[in-house]
Amino acid sequence: MKIVSACLAGVECRFDCQSKERQFIIDLVKEGKAIPVCPEQMGGLTTPRDPSEIQGDKVLSNKGKDVTAQFNKGAQEALKMALLTGADEAYLKSKSPMCGCDEIYDGSFSGAITNGDGIFTKLLKEHGIKVNSVD
Ligand code: SF4
Repeated sequence: MKIVSACLAGVECRFDCQSKERQFIIDLVKEGKAIPVCPEQMGGLTTPRDPSEIQGDKVLSNKGKDVTAQFNKGAQEALKMALLTGADEAYLKSKSPMCGCDEIYDGSFSGAITNGDGIFTKLLKEHGIKVNSVD
C-alpha cells in the first residue's frame, strides 16, 4: 500500500481550497493501491487556512501564528493511517511544510526553497517509509 497527499488525488484540501491533482496518483487510489491523507486537515487546521512554513523548530503561518502543534498532531494521525494500512511508500506534494521531501519553502514566504523535509515526510522517513516527491 502507498500513502499519497490527498491534494494530489484531487481533494481540494490545500490552504487555498485548491487541489494539485496528478492522474497517476488518482489511478493509484482508484486501483486500491493508495490511501489519500491530508495531514494539515487531520491536525485540525481549517480549509481555507493561512499558508504556513517551517521556521527553525516551529511552523508559523504567514501572519505569525504558531501552528506547530497542529502540524505535529496531523503528522502523527496521518502516520497512523500509514501504519494501519501497512504502507511502505508514499507519494507526497513537493515543497509543502507538511508533505515536502528533500526541499521545502524556506520560511520567508517568498517562494524560495531550502533543503529539508516537511513534518509528515520526516516522520514517515523515521518509520522507514520511503517518500517520493511529486511536483
Ligand atoms: Fe496537500 Fe499535504 Fe498540504 Fe494536505 S498537507 S494540502 S495533503 S501538501
